[in-house]
Amino acid sequence: MATMTSPLRSVIGDKAAKVLAKGLELETAGDLLRHYPRRYAERGVLTPLNELAVDDYVTVMAEIHKVDVVPMRNRRGTMVKVVVTDGNGRLTLTFFNQSWRAKQLAVGQRGLFAGKVGDYRGSRQLTNPQTQLLDDEDDERTVAQEDMLAKLIPVYPATAAMPTWNITKAVRVALDVVDVGLDPLPDELRSQRDLLGLADALRLIHRPQSREDVAAATERLKWEEAFVLQVVLAQRRAAAAAQPAVPRRTVLGGLLEAFDERLPFELTGGQRDVSAEIFRDIGRDHPMHRLLQGEVGSGKTVVALRAMLAVVDSGGQAALLAPTEVLAQQHARTVRDLLGPLGRAGELGSGEISTRVALLTGSQSAQSRRENLLDAAGGAAGIVIGTHALLQEHVQFADLGLVVVDEQHRFGVEQRDALRAKAATPPHVLVMTATPIPRTVAMTVYGDLETSMLTELPQGRMPIQTTVVPTGEKPQWLERAWERVGEEVRSGRQAYVVCARIGGDEVEDVLAPLTTDEDDEETTRRRPPAAVVEVAPMLAEGPLRGLRVEMLHGRMPADAKDEVMRRFAAGDIDVLVATTVIEVGVDVANATVMLVMDADRFGVSQLHQLRGRVGRGAHTGLCLLATEVPAESPARERLDGVAATLDGVALARLDLEQRREGDVLGAMQSGRRSSLRLLRLLRDEDVIVAAREDATALVEEDPTLSRHDGLVSAVRELVDTDRADYLEKA
Ligand code: ADP
Ligand code: MG
Repeated sequence: MATMTSPLRSVIGDKAAKVLAKGLELETAGDLLRHYPRRYAERGVLTPLNELAVDDYVTVMAEIHKVDVVPMRNRRGTMVKVVVTDGNGRLTLTFFNQSWRAKQLAVGQRGLFAGKVGDYRGSRQLTNPQTQLLDDEDDERTVAQEDMLAKLIPVYPATAAMPTWNITKAVRVALDVVDVGLDPLPDELRSQRDLLGLADALRLIHRPQSREDVAAATERLKWEEAFVLQVVLAQRRAAAAAQPAVPRRTVLGGLLEAFDERLPFELTGGQRDVSAEIFRDIGRDHPMHRLLQGEVGSGKTVVALRAMLAVVDSGGQAALLAPTEVLAQQHARTVRDLLGPLGRAGELGSGEISTRVALLTGSQSAQSRRENLLDAAGGAAGIVIGTHALLQEHVQFADLGLVVVDEQHRFGVEQRDALRAKAATPPHVLVMTATPIPRTVAMTVYGDLETSMLTELPQGRMPIQTTVVPTGEKPQWLERAWERVGEEVRSGRQAYVVCARIGGDEVEDVLAPLTTDEDDEETTRRRPPAAVVEVAPMLAEGPLRGLRVEMLHGRMPADAKDEVMRRFAAGDIDVLVATTVIEVGVDVANATVMLVMDADRFGVSQLHQLRGRVGRGAHTGLCLLATEVPAESPARERLDGVAATLDGVALARLDLEQRREGDVLGAMQSGRRSSLRLLRLLRDEDVIVAAREDATALVEEDPTLSRHDGLVSAVRELVDTDRADYLEKA
């Protein structure tokens, strides 16, 4: 008997198997049985024809309204033109040189018609569609027609070479001959959660009698997806927790205490709570693996720095990995400032207890590089900050106890691991995200980490006001916006102007819009977005004449970038015209206004991140989103959404909801195909939360899954295939 791993050809024959492999990448019997219907056509319910989109491959159920045989104008032969209807809208089917269709297709009959939607003089049509009639009076019904008699007819993701009813046929064969094997869901769990067995679920999702059948089957299969994934993650957490680590305990009268005394502000309640969680974790003899989520500007850096100091106090070193040079340099500056004499060990005027802060980036001079490498390797530097340069082989530590990764989404797990590997025993790990993400997404994407959350912003922070500036409808508003920037600067503040493009180069680095296909088309037809190298001189000579306007972008040499950031932070630059190099992390409290040019070119979360640059001090932040796109377009709605709320979780949700489901995971990590077919990270919160609980309990009780054979195979399949690649990135 065939099993789920049998090659498809052994089940449905060579020819059909080849077509399925080529068009839909289905290789095994299991692949086919897990190729679920996209929807179900209901007998008697016709597909709405007005909503068909040109170029989509569709399968519609419709009634034949009119059949005409038309001679072709320029060629020999005839054409059969059939008009089908859903009782409302119409669709033309054109068959070339299939004159027998005129006899086959009679007015009043219903059938399924499949093909690519074309547009012929403003009306929708299918050319040579594949056709399957429903109520054929013939006694000798084909298998496919049998299937058509069901009340719910599955409609599969299909291809021109393999229409949905042929998939139905293949699935029917597979359901009959394939042994689905052991159920990955343990019996006990199934009865507790009232879930169908695997064989029943597969039968009902492909051949349901009712909507209830579909619902029960879907529920069970979703559960399985969530559960198997959570078992893998629970095993990873368990394996990590079983490793040995050096406990790093806070000490009395150490750097941390001295640092807290110097701190120019009170820690927020959230910062205290999260610090306490971290101190507890790193004091254990197993490594911490913790994710610190926080709203933009919630003060994650200080929390990370306190953890680093605790480790230094206990005799170890801490490394901070930042995604960009600008950010690494800023972190080094901030940390050195906050530490003051505590961070100048060995120098004149250093504190009694003190350490050093080393910085390693790709661009520093050979000499400063050598000194910093030496400080890291010899242990003189308790804190080592850097970009990817930290990961290089010759970078060594005396005793690396804590790895902090800032803006984790910019890194992969290989990079985290490369840094961890520099420690003699597994170090504690703290990763930080730029913006908070919905809970269920975190549970999946960062499911092998424990999570801490900073929701509260520091006291006295003024909210950021965000306004959309519609330059398409009201060009004079942009002038007004520049005046506003000028006013802000004259009252002593500073400003950012963000452009989507650097410009001045034959390579057009246009941002890929994070939007739907229709939007893409709209975008590509528009003028290129404003460029840094054009906007900066335009402002300096025009609306912002007399102000100190400078540029910052990724093509500048690293030391030039650092120099500009340093001067901006020192208040020696009034207006910084930049690309998204300032997107994450940049922290200049005196900057209070930001104008984003072509704001529609940026994603929702990206805009939220960007405007986080101006809400950092005691002054009200103002963010102006300039756009040409017309009101009531999807892009404009997105911008209005950003303007309407400062809640990062809500915006992350909005951002993710607008992506195709499969891209949700890809959006969080560098994109890979996922194993999730039915489970929706944003909508199936209850399933994910419950599956995580059950998975954690099961792994605790049976870590090697020795008593769960069905589950073992499912876990192995998930881990073995490329479908698990995104897990590796987490
Ligand atoms: P993010 O969480 O976005 O990385 P940062 O760590 O850069 O935020 O902190 C934002 C700003 O808030 C920094 O200038 C930091 O010094 C300041 N800050 C952090 N914690 C507090 C606090 N408790 N009170 C006042 N200001 C704070
Ligand atoms: Mg930060």
